[in-house]
This record gives sequence, structure tokens and C-alpha cells, in this order.
Amino acid sequence: MILTLGKDTNEAYIRELEKFLNQESVSFYRASFRGNLVRVIPDEEVGSEFPQYLNTFKGVQEIQSPSTDYQLASKAFTSSSTQISVNNEIIHQQGLNLVAGPCSVESHSQIMETAHFLSEMGINLIRGGAYKPRTSPYSFQGLGHEGLGLIREAADRYGLGVVTEVMDYQLMDEVVAHGDILQVGSRNMFNYQLLKQLGEQPKPVLLKRGMFAKIEEWLLAAEYIILNGNEQVILCERGLRTFDPAVRNQMDIAAIPLTKGLSHLPVWADPSQGSGRRNLIEPLSHAAVAAGVDGLMLEVHPDPDNALSDGSQSINLSAFKSLVKNILPTAQHLNKKLYLSSAMKATASNH
Ligand code: PEP
Ligand code: MN
Repeated sequence: MILTLGKDTNEAYIRELEKFLNQESVSFYRASFRGNLVRVIPDEEVGSEFPQYLNTFKGVQEIQSPSTDYQLASKAFTSSSTQISVNNEIIHQQGLNLVAGPCSVESHSQIMETAHFLSEMGINLIRGGAYKPRTSPYSFQGLGHEGLGLIREAADRYGLGVVTEVMDYQLMDEVVAHGDILQVGSRNMFNYQLLKQLGEQPKPVLLKRGMFAKIEEWLLAAEYIILNGNEQVILCERGLRTFDPAVRNQMDIAAIPLTKGLSHLPVWADPSQGSGRRNLIEPLSHAAVAAGVDGLMLEVHPDPDNALSDGSQSINLSAFKSLVKNILPTAQHLNKKLYLSSAMKATASNH
């Protein structure tokens, strides 16, 4: 149950309400949402007579009871979509956002070339891992601090926003200082301590779905972040591990409309991790756009065959350009605007 208290609720009213809850031994959580103070009471704590009674407390503007464990992330709490902002303009609320870039930042020339290419196309978000969660300790682990500096430099030179992963809470300050959107990797979706810490950060979080996470678990992970103070959460479907080694992960296309129906949070998709195969990225991008995603994250590299990580699921710069051109009609059909440079739009409309 969520009690919404107005923005300027009198302290005394809040104290009175909380005193009552304490007297009744009801545990509750303090949070804020879109400028309002809220108090969240877990379902099992809510007595049947509660809602009517709590309604009588001064300062309580609304009482809602989403029938899900994730309450603040639920669409039953608010059906109006969460608006994400990066420097006030980089996220297009009703549009299709595109994030492209290498799996890992590898060198100055690699990230500069990619950033330049993206900015020429009118893309405004670049991805690139500096601290990488690699399955094998012998694989390239990322350039770390140096990599963060390189992607920031490239992004600043070409006016882009940076999406990069934060693997560990000890790296939080460093990643927050260099990134614009903080990526939580699939392996860390269940790292609740990290999620709580992300709740305290001033930047949006891109929350990848765990590779074996139920949708409910994914939304509860988002709930951790929102409850701890950060409402700026983007959900990102990135495929599930299944019995079939034909693909690295199986992208759950149904999860896209399903999750959008359950939550007010934006839902993006990552067809690169979602398949592990370069030739599946474009068809899966089409499918994700048709299913209604709000953003796509793609691994794009100037020379995928020689990439230090995930080359087999990365496309080169020109393949990316033609992919974007090819998905435009589907996006337009669904009224999902893509904000590209006029040159790119002109190329697209000629086809
Ligand atoms: C990535 O984006 O490079 C990555 C490692 O993603 P995931 O956590 O989804 O595997
Ligand atoms: Mn990758």
C-alpha cells in the first residue's frame, strides 16, 4: 500500500501518521516519488480496515494498493510513463532511443572513431564498458579508469551521453563521475547492496534483466532502486539463458509488451547480448521495435572481428547505419520518433 503525502506536508501530520503506524507495529518505508513524499507499507502488513482509517489522517492525499510486491515500479501506482532525463534533452520520452558503441572501450582511436560516427548520424548516446564483467578471469577485463576517461573525452568532444556499467559499489563514485547513465549488468541484477546504492545516485540507471530473472524479480530489482531514492530507472531486456546453445541468450520479445503493461518504467532492449550473434541483431532489433521498446542498445565496433570483447555479437559502423535506416519505418509506424540528423533521415526516406 502506498500513501502519498503532498509535497509540503506539515511535519506534524507526518509524525502523527508514523506514530500511529509504529504503535500498530506496522513496518513502513519512507520514499519520495515525483516530488511527493510517500510511505510504502508491504502488503502483509496491511489490515483490512487500514485503508479507510489511514485516509482520515491529515496530509494523506491518496492511498493506492497495487496488488504486486513491486509497488512503486508498478503501473497500478501510476500509469503515466516515467520520464528519464540526461542533461535535460538526451532521452526522448515518446521516441525510440538508440545507444550504440563497443562492448568495451579499447583505445583512444576506437572510441573516438565510434563517437564521431554516431554524432554524424545524429545518435546521442554512446555505450562502452570500462570495468567489464567477464566470465573468464583470463579475458580482457576492460581498461578501467583509463577507459572511463576515454569514453568521457569522446562523448564530450561529440556532444554525446555515456552509458557505462558500474560493477561494484567501490567503483560507484568513479563511474558516476564519468557516466551519464549507469548500467547494471545482467550478473548484478540480483546484487541488492549495489541496487540500494544506485538508489542514492543522481543519475539514471539502466537495469539489465538478469539472464535467469523472472519479470517479477526484475521489477523488484527496480523497486530497490526507486525505494532508495532514484526514480530514474530504465529496464533493459537482454535475453535469457536457455537449454539451447544455438544462441548465447534468447531475447524474450514477449517481455517487452508484458513489462510495459506492468510498469511505468521505460523498457529498452539489447539484441547484442540478446543473441550473441551478429547476424541476428538486425532481425531482433526489428522485433523489439515492433514489440514497442523505448530504446535499443547495440554493440557497434569499427572493427568487430578484432574486438577485445563480444566481437561476434558486434556490428560495424556501416551495418549499424543501415540497421537504423531499416528499422525507421517500423518505428514510424508505431509513432516512435527517432531523433537523427537530417542527413540520416533523408537517406532513410529515400528507401
Ligand atoms: C554488456 O552490455 O556488455 C554486458 C556485459 O551486458 P549484460 O550484463 O547484459 O551481459
Ligand atoms: Mn558486451
